[in-house]
Amino acid sequence: MASVEQAPAAEQNGTGIPVENPATGQTITTVPTLSADEVKALVARARAAQPAWDAIGFEERGRVLRRAQKWVTDNADRIIETIVSETGKTYEDAQLAEIMYAAAAFGFWAKEAPKFLADEPMKSANPLVKGKRLVVRYAPVGVVGVIGPWNFPLTNSFGDCIPALAAGNAVILKPSEVTPLTSLLMAEGLRACGLPDGVFQVATGDGATGAALIDEVDFIMFTGSTKTGRKVMERAARTLTPVGLELGGKDPMIVLADADLERAANAAAYYSMNNGGQVCISIERVYVEAPVYDQFVAKVTDKVRALRQGRSSGPGSVDVGAVTFPPQLDIIDAHVRDAVDKGARVLTGGRAAAGPGMFYEPTVLVDVDHTMSCMTEETFGPTLPIMKVGDAEEALRLANDSPYGLQASVWTKDTRRGEALARRVEAGAVCVNDAQVNYTALELPMGGWKTSGLGTRHGAAGIRKYTKQQTLLVTRLAGKRDPHMFPYSRRVTGLIGKLTKLLYGRGKRD
Ligand code: NDP
Repeated sequence: MASVEQAPAAEQNGTGIPVENPATGQTITTVPTLSADEVKALVARARAAQPAWDAIGFEERGRVLRRAQKWVTDNADRIIETIVSETGKTYEDAQLAEIMYAAAAFGFWAKEAPKFLADEPMKSANPLVKGKRLVVRYAPVGVVGVIGPWNFPLTNSFGDCIPALAAGNAVILKPSEVTPLTSLLMAEGLRACGLPDGVFQVATGDGATGAALIDEVDFIMFTGSTKTGRKVMERAARTLTPVGLELGGKDPMIVLADADLERAANAAAYYSMNNGGQVCISIERVYVEAPVYDQFVAKVTDKVRALRQGRSSGPGSVDVGAVTFPPQLDIIDAHVRDAVDKGARVLTGGRAAAGPGMFYEPTVLVDVDHTMSCMTEETFGPTLPIMKVGDAEEALRLANDSPYGLQASVWTKDTRRGEALARRVEAGAVCVNDAQVNYTALELPMGGWKTSGLGTRHGAAGIRKYTKQQTLLVTRLAGKRDPHMFPYSRRVTGLIGKLTKLLYGRGKRD
């Protein structure tokens, strides 16, 4: 198993990946880049360990997961410190969206896995199976590969491993090369909680390590960009390995004239800038009805201008953290420059902040339109472009004018109207007078439409995807030969024809 202790060796042989603190620019440590052969060895180990993990059943697995839940809360500060050091995010962003999520998820899957994956006795109307026992069961796929991004090393990389483990699979996690330390710490935590050897392993490395993992496992859960998601699906097609894809987004916020503007402005500032805007379900663009546009823009700009940015030195120290991934800084700046070149105005922010560390100033843009990349491509940074629209229909048309369909929000005091509009937005989740918090309800499916993903996490489907459905049909009492078996006869064939007519031929004619 790759571990933090392996890091110095990796550094010596030159095959390691340096892990940097983006808020300081300092190198924290180095982790190994696993080769395809090393990935194969991890998978072999996982295959050997998985049957026993499956055999101990939900209750025993639940015990390990509940111990892990407690381990997360007991070690919250240590985990937060690790997350903050490798992402540069604030203490609060690590606490609320990562520690709280993981702690809840361990308990949720421990409790719900036996229900979601219980045998389902079925009844059928078909006379051919009358009196037989019909059951659908869910068997673990075997070895699950999870490939994760850098923005939420605990929630979006490790988080998907929890239901996979609860279902009885062995799991190999390939974290982003930028943020591998949280995953390694979780491996240590799970060991301390009694998870058997080989059931959870971390394959540190780069894109090639991820690609090698796809070749070997029975299911790939991928979270990352749409561009890489396509590559993952293509690679998985070679071995017909099923995939779950949680990809990029460009979430629209629609503010109607009757919205509670103070709440909408607070939410716009928070849900576009939390985690430095590096959230797949960040508010990335806003459409505001003309009568309240000026007021809304003034409120949002004041709130964004007041944000404190910098290296987090503990609770309450800063509001907005660093840009975690170096190339992201260029993408954010390119979107802002492109907008300005095409006539947009920067009301606050608008440039990278002075070092050390990688920071982009919290930015509000106005006079924007859909010729600008800031309105059409995922920016994934602390920027908020706001556009004036004539009415709700124009806002809806623009919201749906996107290849993405991850999440959206509608803001109005008329919640019936808001919900009606929400149902017309092309996105996997739409909030009315809220944003992002739906993600914390693990009962709710979370997944993108269009190029934002395939399949969902959370809810029943969020664990059943890690299983193979098996149909069982058991015939207890039966004669030596059923009437439809050989040899065929004119009489039985005629009877089957009559039966078919009797059962299905009585539909009304138009
Ligand atoms: P990337 O797509 O760049 O990378 C994701 C993971 O895939 C990383 O571990 C990466 O490794 C790995 N990888 C890269 N190339 C390959 C390959 N050819 N085969 C297999 N694996 C590969 O995404 P980011 O890390 O930049 O994350 C940001 C993106 O994630 C944003 O688009 C964001 O919207 C999305 N996201 C979506 C979420 C959702 O739930 N829908 C949640 C969170 C983020 P390495 O880092 O080593 O290159």
